[in-house]
Amino acid sequence: MNTVPFIDLKPQYQALKQQIDSKIMKVLEHGQFILGPEVKECEKDLAKFVGVKHALTCSNGTDALQIAMMAVGFQPGDEIITTPFTFVATAEVPVLMNVNPVFVDIEMDTYNLKIEDIEKKITKKTKAIMPVSLYGQMPDMNALMQIAEKHKLFIIEDGAQSFGAEFDGKKSGSFPHIGCTSFFPAKPLGCFGDGGAVFTDNDEFAKAMEEIRTHGQSARYHHSRIGMNGRLDTIQCAVLTEKLKRFPWELDQRNKYADRYFDKLKQLEPKIKLPRVLKNRRSAWAQYTIMVDDRENFAKHLQSKGVPTSVHYPTPVHQQPAYKQWATEALPNAEKAAKSVISLPMYPDMTDAIQDQVVEAILSFYR
Ligand SMILES: *Cc1c(COP(=O)(O)O)cnc(C)c1O
Repeated sequence: MNTVPFIDLKPQYQALKQQIDSKIMKVLEHGQFILGPEVKECEKDLAKFVGVKHALTCSNGTDALQIAMMAVGFQPGDEIITTPFTFVATAEVPVLMNVNPVFVDIEMDTYNLKIEDIEKKITKKTKAIMPVSLYGQMPDMNALMQIAEKHKLFIIEDGAQSFGAEFDGKKSGSFPHIGCTSFFPAKPLGCFGDGGAVFTDNDEFAKAMEEIRTHGQSARYHHSRIGMNGRLDTIQCAVLTEKLKRFPWELDQRNKYADRYFDKLKQLEPKIKLPRVLKNRRSAWAQYTIMVDDRENFAKHLQSKGVPTSVHYPTPVHQQPAYKQWATEALPNAEKAAKSVISLPMYPDMTDAIQDQVVEAILSFYR
């Protein structure tokens, strides 16, 4: 019996090898490894794809969040409302900036922020909301924007898992005020190492973020603000430009396999809980994550059938040892999800045969 991959990026590289190799070679030949012409080219393509005025590449998704927060401008002791059911970077960046993450519980159908709980958590110190478009699905951005307008808050979307996703026909990253994403290789659009980007329609934020990305520099060796080294390598931008051309097809593939999982597994509900994409939304399917009661044995059984799984995430951030001081109350949905979510193989170059092996392994666990 073959073991199927959890994610396999080799077929993607094979499909694009000629274009990517020659694009990288060009960079090696011109030698502008930092902010070379491919960076602007890539940013133009990203801005067009996302539908925003400004796209700026940066070192990784975590730094994208930091660059966005630095541009918005927080005071020590300010608060940012976010979800505990996410990758740790979402809370790590505020804490590094002496901003207190205020955790709001999640809703169980999408695992995203429970929007109706947000207003209760707003205080005089609240400056922003950082929603996470978990597993590739965006939250209700209109509802979030209404709350933000009413209370004069900023929204910074952590779209690290949702590049290519849509809400109301608009792409992840394109909503006010700033969208952030990651090009870590396993994200929907990955580069060949670490990478990320920030998106905005706001000229002032764009200018600030561009300066912050290069040590707060507004002219060479003139530092008008505090910044960081947050640039993305020219080589990674060259890779992204080529990969972006295939990306719409890849999104279709992810959606095809998500639909196919649903069709083949829905007979098992309610023993398992399949993911739902709410209306007006299209997921980028960074993960296909289900809920099961007996996760440990489920994973062991799938492993014995050659099917790897992964848990995103076993511990919500407010229960992490380093974050206990920001845990103000129980967040039952996040805690419940952390105990029972499990992600199945999902990637654009999956085949029907590979997916059938995953499905059969799951069906056999319940027989
Ligand atoms: C991956 C991820 C990040 C961090 O992105 P990196 O590129 O790994 O720094 C932040 N938030 C979420 C939700 C993520 O999934």
